[in-house]
Amino acid sequence: MPMSAQTADTDLAVVIGLEVHVQLETDTKVFCGCSTEPAPDEDPNTRTCPVCLGLPGALPVLNEGAVEAAVKIGKALDADVPDRTTFHRKNYFYPDLPKNFQLTQYDAPICEHGRIDVSVEGTRREIGITRAHLEEDPGSLQHVGGTIDSADYTLIDYNRAGTPLVEIVTEPDFQSPAEARAFLAKLEEVLEYLDVFDSNRDGSLRVDANISIAEGVDDGTELRVDQDALEAANRTEVKNISSYKGAEQALAYEVTRQKNAIRRGREVPQETRHWDESRGITVSMRSKEAEKDYRYFREADLPPLEVADWKRRLEIPELPDARRERFREEYGLDAESAAKLTSRKAVADFYEGVAEAFAPGLAATWVADNLLGELNYRDMAITDIQHRLPEFERLIKLVDTSAVTTKNAEEVVLREMLDSGDEPDTIIDREGLGVAEDDEVSAAVTDAIETNPDAVDDYHDGETGAINFLVGQVMQATGGSAAPDEVNQLLREELEGWPCSVSVFSEYCSPPVHALH
Ligand code: ADP
Ligand code: MG
Ligand code: ZN
Repeated sequence: MPMSAQTADTDLAVVIGLEVHVQLETDTKVFCGCSTEPAPDEDPNTRTCPVCLGLPGALPVLNEGAVEAAVKIGKALDADVPDRTTFHRKNYFYPDLPKNFQLTQYDAPICEHGRIDVSVEGTRREIGITRAHLEEDPGSLQHVGGTIDSADYTLIDYNRAGTPLVEIVTEPDFQSPAEARAFLAKLEEVLEYLDVFDSNRDGSLRVDANISIAEGVDDGTELRVDQDALEAANRTEVKNISSYKGAEQALAYEVTRQKNAIRRGREVPQETRHWDESRGITVSMRSKEAEKDYRYFREADLPPLEVADWKRRLEIPELPDARRERFREEYGLDAESAAKLTSRKAVADFYEGVAEAFAPGLAATWVADNLLGELNYRDMAITDIQHRLPEFERLIKLVDTSAVTTKNAEEVVLREMLDSGDEPDTIIDREGLGVAEDDEVSAAVTDAIETNPDAVDDYHDGETGAINFLVGQVMQATGGSAAPDEVNQLLREELEGWPCSVSVFSEYCSPPVHALH
């Protein structure tokens, strides 16, 4: 490599670790019976009770659904779920936290030592999961008239306070923002397969991204961070990231910012920064708090929880990676189709329904290409139409038996099914798309020949373009429902056996032309 300004850059290795807060999809909050559904008209502070408002004397009761979800997550992350887990208070003062402490877990979390594999551009990396623990979500703050650092005032809504969260903490194993993004996308897939998480809910996945930059050593295959340099490096923690795209953008911003600082010989301070999504930048919030600032202590109002039985009892479904692999083997799908069909569990289930009735390749084309494309275009999800599997199968059947052309099925019937909600047969009747019976087509062919003597003559004169005119006439007569290739073929057969001597047609053959034959 030529010596240039680039050289300094490439010697710096990026180290990233994530803390991911996932809202669990339970009906009620984690320590009280308040609903987790959005309040009607988003009326603030209506989904609350003495427990989640932290009123004196109120006692928490643990939601079993949240524990089940956390145990399933542990299994899916290939983590250790200890037999017994405990709860702690994490003390800090902030207006979104009415008790002035967050009920969370500390030294005996519900999951430890897991892993997830991610692939970026063909390179696979195993990301270690340090731990995952159960905790409560704080309330939400609405900064009015500006952002967190410039608002006129701030409103507080405790409807979110007490929503169950699992916080998943990774090892600092990521080497690029792209890997972090791939991890979050994968995690979302897994959580969705487990049916513990709703990715459509605003703020259901929130990320704190930790990043530091230190000198690296190129080991021939990749740039590995030098451990001593890493120990010495300061790290920033970027908060307020609410999507995996945001995580990649925020981290890419930090990589540039920190590298620039290092190149100019400035120190990158250890601090907490805020991701300002609208401006696409991170801003300094405060120096980073240390663990001792939180004065963790055991929550006396919740006894230790024995989870050994839950661990044995709870089963998890086949996960996306395994299902992808099975789709390739069992149905002979290529990597791209298998990936498309398995990234959402509902899509994979739908595909398997179709593949029971039709050849796997045909089913894949219809679900992965046609259906997902049309759903995507309409901003619809598979869950909006999964109950219509029989109708969808009926449509493929109609194409398979040539009762409707592939083109009409794809471009008219399927679209109309999604737009109007009508059944395929109804649409085909209404739009007159049924493929004409053979008799109807032959009748139209004969008719076209009889009523267009000039074109017939032209054909016999060697003007083969005349056939196209006749095909057009037949198509028009059958309302476009005949297959053009078939019509062409039928016309040729008829015209070849077209000796103008056949008396009934002779009137159409003018003598001079006939004489030329
Ligand atoms: P806290 O945020 O409370 O200080 P930890 O020190 O355990 O907690 O680290 C939290 C996150 O920071 C983890 O995701 C971890 O992977 C990540 N992390 C730790 N060291 C580094 C580092 N040098 N660079 C980037 N991320 C790091
Ligand atoms: Mg942290
Ligand atoms: Zn409540």
